Amino acid sequence: MFSPKETRSTCPYCGVGCGVIIQSSGNQITGVKGDPQHPANFGRLCSKGSTLHLTATAEVTLQTRLLQPLQRLQRGSTPEAVTWDSALHTATTKFAQVIRDHGPDAVGFYVSGQLLTEDYYAFNKLAKGLIGTNNIDTNSRLCMSSAVAGYKKTLGADSPPASYEDLGLASTLFIAGSNAAYAHPILFRRIEDAKAANPALKIVVVDVRRTDTAEAADLFLQIQPGTDVMLFNGMLHLMLWEGWTDAAYMAAHTEGFDALKALVRDCTPDAVAAVCGIRKAELMEATRLFAQSPATLSLYCMGLNQSSAGTAKNTALINLHLATGQIGKPGAGPFSLTGQPNAMGGREVGGLANLLSGHRDLANPAHRAEVASLWGVPAVPEKPGKTAIEMFQAAADGEIRALWIACTNPAQSLPDQATVRRALERAEFVVLQEAFATTATARYADLLLPATTWGEKEGTVTNSERRISRVRAAVAAPGPQDNGPRHDWAIAVDFAQRLESALGRTPALPTLFPYPTPESVWNEHRESTRGRDLDITGMSYAQLEATPLQWPMPEGAASGKVRLYEDGVFPTPTGRARFVAAPYTPVAEPREARYPFALTTGRLRDQWHGMSRTGTLGRLFGHVREPALHMHPQDMARRLLAEGDLVHITSKRGSILAPVQASTEVGLSQVFLPMHWGDEFLSGHSNTGERLGGVNALTSPVFCPDSKQPELKHAAVKVLKADMP
Ligand code: SF4
Repeated sequence: MFSPKETRSTCPYCGVGCGVIIQSSGNQITGVKGDPQHPANFGRLCSKGSTLHLTATAEVTLQTRLLQPLQRLQRGSTPEAVTWDSALHTATTKFAQVIRDHGPDAVGFYVSGQLLTEDYYAFNKLAKGLIGTNNIDTNSRLCMSSAVAGYKKTLGADSPPASYEDLGLASTLFIAGSNAAYAHPILFRRIEDAKAANPALKIVVVDVRRTDTAEAADLFLQIQPGTDVMLFNGMLHLMLWEGWTDAAYMAAHTEGFDALKALVRDCTPDAVAAVCGIRKAELMEATRLFAQSPATLSLYCMGLNQSSAGTAKNTALINLHLATGQIGKPGAGPFSLTGQPNAMGGREVGGLANLLSGHRDLANPAHRAEVASLWGVPAVPEKPGKTAIEMFQAAADGEIRALWIACTNPAQSLPDQATVRRALERAEFVVLQEAFATTATARYADLLLPATTWGEKEGTVTNSERRISRVRAAVAAPGPQDNGPRHDWAIAVDFAQRLESALGRTPALPTLFPYPTPESVWNEHRESTRGRDLDITGMSYAQLEATPLQWPMPEGAASGKVRLYEDGVFPTPTGRARFVAAPYTPVAEPREARYPFALTTGRLRDQWHGMSRTGTLGRLFGHVREPALHMHPQDMARRLLAEGDLVHITSKRGSILAPVQASTEVGLSQVFLPMHWGDEFLSGHSNTGERLGGVNALTSPVFCPDSKQPELKHAAVKVLKADMP
């Protein structure tokens, strides 16, 4: 008999970052409960977090996990088991050959916000430090890169200024483009608690859909897709007209208002009402609640970020906080929510093509020199790396020849699936490092490297409020003892050390990757933050064992900072926050006669991403059993559609088949489809006849020019009843 064990760790799903206690017996996870000590959730878990243990049973593991390295000798063939040594030798040989023959920019790494900070750091150093390419990007590009760009443009650094405790201190919560009730359930419980404790708290929700979050609002603004910038600029127009701006705050702590003031002159209530599709009284009330509240906290997420104007939407909202002084005080500030469990950690280590460790910029020569010195390499390359969409386009064009994909499923999650799949087919060599064997991307990999996952690995993650938590192993990895899954950071380090030799790095030099443990990787990351806005030199793994900590926490500090910019000083050259004058631009692909519906995509409460984990659990289908296209009943009646009819949903890129469902959550001429189901459930084809599926057969690869985040929230589609046999 084994004695039961409890291990404190962190939920691997969303960016709320709830603490969990894993219960195990022997090498089997037997239960999970919320960690009452964790400041994100104080013991609560949502439907996904509370069923984590059921996704790690022996039976589920056998059905879903990648348990040893596999290699395909031919594309399309069944992969065969190989040893780790053979697999990594093959990977090293192929990558070294491509680099020698075509240069370092002929390879690309596409990683994930599901990786731990240590994993992320090792991959970033491997690409930018050893190989000498900035072609490393992450699926976090799809969820929060507009928030990064928005913070940097206005506040000078990618540092969310508020914390969860501000939810209980705010007098107005302004929630824009976020269905927190589904996507961040425990955070939403805290919002409900705040409302219960303070009935005077006003909740304003801005969204294109009447979501469960909108149902909780005192005021709901159901705007037309993509019109957020017009709304926010119109609110500023009204604030100026009504005298609701904070002139003293602006004079002391901001710059650049004149250009913005000129820009919003034309954003009159009439213009806003016409563009956004809301009533002028609603606009006035939202503006009053924002500006006249003692403390206004904005919460925002994919609805702003996943847009061809994602950065403009972020900066337009932050403008409102700066114009009213609603920042740097309890209960106030612009607070972006991260989708994935470690999107924030990825930002910290510079795990995007345009960033470097410690919130440094690739475009800054001094920053490149600092990182090169820290890593002990001659230089970090200057040439910008390919971001997610660009990387797969480059692979489809034959420019990137070898791809390493870690812990993500681009063959389902990236927009414009036809191009993505062409990229995976055309690339000479595709490595997939994954815990799960069941993803669509696994079908395209030449080499499949099994990775450990939640409950089996050690490291750290950072949640939406800048809080770093430990992730701990409760059990050993499954699979053959000497050939089973390995930790992501360790796979990257083993490959990097082999590549050092293969690329002819002087053998006398010590390895650039001298890491025996994840803690040793984290210690180097910690040093890279010294003196930066996210300085964590005052933290240690030992302290994080005791309690999660927020950054910044420089050496000597007793604790991290709950709130930023309380002194009104911003990390810009002048110390002032910057207003950004960004005009409203419509969605990239407006509705038209041939494609008369605006399609938006989103999450369900009980599913996560492509369902690799949540899809293994029957009870999580109790909320929503199958994918369906949500359409307004009047639109259904006009098209003679009945509930459950199968429809072809077609965009300029592809077409899929799904049942239709009446919903008054969506407006007229708008439809909604959940993002979780892939091609095995939502089958279809590209506009050139290739078999495809999932909602991303339809979505557009057009991205925001600043953040390079694609417009996953909008595509123009037509909906036609399928011919029934
Ligand atoms: Fe996990 Fe997010 Fe649910 Fe918390 S809210 S238990 S982090 S999925």
